[in-house]
Amino acid sequence: MESRSKAKHQNGSVADVLRKINLSARNFTVHQEKTLRALSYCRTSALGGHIDACDECGNMSISYNSCRNRHCPQCQGHKKEEWIRKREADLLPCSYYHLVFTLPEELNGLAIANPTLIYKTLFEAAWATLNQFGNTEGIQLGMIAILHTWGQNLSLHPHLHCIVPGGGIDHHGKWKKKVRTDKYLFSVKAMSKVFRAKFVASLRTCGITDRDLMDKLFSKNWVVYAKRPFGGPKQVIEYLGRYTHKIAISNHRIKEVTDKEVRFAYRDYRKGSEKKEMTLSHVEFIRRFSLHILPRRFVRIRHYGILSSSWKRGKLQNLQAELKVERRAFVPKTLFRKCRCCKEGNLVTIAIFGQRGPPQDFLFVTQPLSAK
Ligand SMILES: [Zn+2]
Ligand SMILES: [Zn+2]
Ligand SMILES: [Zn+2]
Repeated sequence: MESRSKAKHQNGSVADVLRKINLSARNFTVHQEKTLRALSYCRTSALGGHIDACDECGNMSISYNSCRNRHCPQCQGHKKEEWIRKREADLLPCSYYHLVFTLPEELNGLAIANPTLIYKTLFEAAWATLNQFGNTEGIQLGMIAILHTWGQNLSLHPHLHCIVPGGGIDHHGKWKKKVRTDKYLFSVKAMSKVFRAKFVASLRTCGITDRDLMDKLFSKNWVVYAKRPFGGPKQVIEYLGRYTHKIAISNHRIKEVTDKEVRFAYRDYRKGSEKKEMTLSHVEFIRRFSLHILPRRFVRIRHYGILSSSWKRGKLQNLQAELKVERRAFVPKTLFRKCRCCKEGNLVTIAIFGQRGPPQDFLFVTQPLSAK
């Protein structure tokens, strides 16, 4: 862990690139510019900081504050653990399927102009499709859907990861396992047609009727991809842990930030996940990065059907009891951070400071500034 974070600092970060360009001179929306600025200030004196003391050995340390923006590569994970443990409590004893609904690139222009509409429609069309297939078999399904907007090289490639329990509730309110001999929940070919029809129908009701676009959208097959299903609930949690709180690029993929360019690693999935590197100018790198800044308050992880919030208020718990799932009590994690010096004591914040830096008297007793 330690060596990895060191490597991160050596190679550069998204924030390093951001600090090299004049954000206000670019064509960003107010929200994009605000987000990018927050990321560039993250863990610098601009956000102020705090002084922590260990309640065991008395060691003091100074840290700059982080921006806590959900798009920030340095701020991932502070809510992740709690989120994962809550999902753990929702699990059902069945196999889980993993479907990916992808938008064709012809929609990229609309996704840039009106991301809320396009991404909301993607969620709705994917769920409407699955729900329809479930209903045909007389069961109410459920899903957790996670929006990713990026391809490996930061291009715009909106797709939805859907985690679907292999079963649902029948008309009598009883659990019904959906058993299939192949690895898919439903035929992906059939699903992709329904998905396309539902998505385009929603666009039409929103007044998007551009003939040319519609022709293009119908002239190609949309991609619904079935990934290898999860072996069991444990793997679902592992997956969610790795992917749900992901962002367009993590700092460890950045290999070098020079005065002119950024070099970063990516995988070419069209060539069997071959490892490659790409070099972009600072401006182009940040332009691509900004494509993945979601609209304010846009919810990127959603729950449907028997995993929706209305179900979780009792019905899901009853179902788990019926299926004899042992529910582990949800224990909120303690907010204490451990002392890095003695590894025993808890850190207590004893002072906070603003942009002007820590009070002078503290400087000689504390350790050098650490980013935390
Ligand atoms: Zn941050
Ligand atoms: Zn993805
Ligand atoms: Zn200590």
